[in-house]
Amino acid sequence: MNLSLAPGILEQVIEHAKTCHPQEGCGLLVGSQLATRFIPMDNARASSTDYEMEPAQLIAVLRDLRTSGEALLAIYHSHPLGPAKPSESDIERAYYPEAAHLIVSLVEPERPRTAAFRIIDGKVYEIEIHVIL
Ligand SMILES: [Zn+2]
Repeated sequence: MNLSLAPGILEQVIEHAKTCHPQEGCGLLVGSQLATRFIPMDNARASSTDYEMEPAQLIAVLRDLRTSGEALLAIYHSHPLGPAKPSESDIERAYYPEAAHLIVSLVEPERPRTAAFRIIDGKVYEIEIHVIL
């Protein structure tokens, strides 16, 4: 299953990654089939090599999604210093197998790289990102 993004979503995500730089940024992409909303999250680890979505904030957002009927389609985080692929700890801590993982690399800040993956039972599958124009 690929990751489809409504117009402007990828730009919002990249902008957030730049704002958080040099720390990792993170957030959620929600919608139904198509990601129509980006929800920025705080990185509780405030680290440039690691992230953890602020737990209380995450619980509140997941609760809101039950009301709004939106699905969690993807978890985004940035790699300020690394490539756009999952790290060992990303693979270990992929707690939401139904969600895609969108990674923004800012190794070259003026040329952000993005890639999306599914991580299922410790295995990584790259998927396509479809941006609706
Ligand atoms: Zn990572």
